[in-house]
Amino acid sequence: MGELTLYGAPWCPDCRRSKSFLMDQRIPYRWVDIDADDEARAWVERLQGGGRTIPTIVFADGSHLLEPSNAELAEKLGLKVRAERMAYDLVILGGGPAGLAAAIYAAREGMDALVLERGALGGQAGATELIDNYPGFPDGIRGMELAARLVAHARRYGVEMVSAVEVSGVRRESDAVLVDTSAGDAYAGTAAIVATGSTYRRLDVPGEEGLTGLGLHNCATCDGPFYRGSAEIAVIGGGNSALEEALFLATLADHVTILTRGDLRASELVKDKVRNHPRITVRTGIDILGLERRDGRLGAIVARERASGDDVRLEPAAAFVFVGLDPNTGFLRGSADLDERGFLLADDGYRTSMDGLFAAGDVRSGSTKQVGAAAGEGIAALLSVRRWMEQRHDMPTQPMEDMSASA
Ligand code: NAP
Repeated sequence: MGELTLYGAPWCPDCRRSKSFLMDQRIPYRWVDIDADDEARAWVERLQGGGRTIPTIVFADGSHLLEPSNAELAEKLGLKVRAERMAYDLVILGGGPAGLAAAIYAAREGMDALVLERGALGGQAGATELIDNYPGFPDGIRGMELAARLVAHARRYGVEMVSAVEVSGVRRESDAVLVDTSAGDAYAGTAAIVATGSTYRRLDVPGEEGLTGLGLHNCATCDGPFYRGSAEIAVIGGGNSALEEALFLATLADHVTILTRGDLRASELVKDKVRNHPRITVRTGIDILGLERRDGRLGAIVARERASGDDVRLEPAAAFVFVGLDPNTGFLRGSADLDERGFLLADDGYRTSMDGLFAAGDVRSGSTKQVGAAAGEGIAALLSVRRWMEQRHDMPTQPMEDMSASA
């Protein structure tokens, strides 16, 4: 796809919504702030015969949409938002490593599987710069490449995958698990696997609201390059994500400061790399108190050092926040048991409290939050689904001949 340009302004909520949609779908775009660019504002007004509706989104072929809904944008971009049928042997919620691994194995077992993904297929792994610990890739693999390979693998097995579709509820009805989507559809599966992963947690401090994408970010691979050559970038958090992304950001900016409230909580190897990095400073025991704006963007981080009680103020070009993960289980509340943090409870056969509903990957309570483990859990959950179907005699009769031999 050629270049897509989004004309908007920092204060416009629909512009932010469109930006996050494009980011979620990993569709590259050019952002033009019409408040800061008189020529662009005049151009938008000419295009609209004097109007100034934003976001105005201009596509590579010169056509444009004014203030489109996410569904309109998805349709214009040719994204598949509706499945071909309404009933499947298996509905997989989430198209990350766990969901796609389950889908590949489902196809191998002759099951008819549908994958529903709200963002881009490939999951959070696809937004990670370098995955250095996926077995079999001694030099590491770029997250985007691993995601693309998983998607290609599932496509080769003929798995049906739909992206840009948000699941709004899951219910058990007679002999099926029904999966409702925000597009108003309900897909029935003999079984379903929840592999919806988790989302980066927010800081929950004053000033944070509305700053995402405006100097405040959660994805270094996606947004880090905007800050190439800047003097200072801040990373908030002290776990594996924060440290790994800080190492990547240090290839772009002159200096990176890591601010975390406790101690560093990452693997020893990554901690050593960070501590020995000449352009990374680590400040532990820092409480973030708030974020200040300047010209509609992040202006400053206001914090306090726990030990001394001293105020800390940082004015980085951007702040990247990695303070842990929240499970994507909002749509399950009331229908399956969750743990106290909202992760989906499952037994050692990956079975949840709802008959026919299974869990795999980061969303599962007690999972290790490793990409390799997520893929493994997808496979293990699928094999458990197969056993469950066999016990109920729901198992499809035709395993794929050429593919069943190698398992
Ligand atoms: P995490 O391990 O839960 O770490 C969150 C970090 O953020 C902690 O250091 C925490 O400090 C800090 N923090 C939390 N709230 C904060 C706040 N308000 N202000 C400042 N700091 C704050 O989260 P994660 O790094 O996203 O990792 C999630 C899981 O994925 C972990 O199990 C991790 O091992 C795994 N992971 C693995 C890899 C890998 O193997 N390569 C890569 C990425 C992630 P406290 O000490 O105060 O809690």
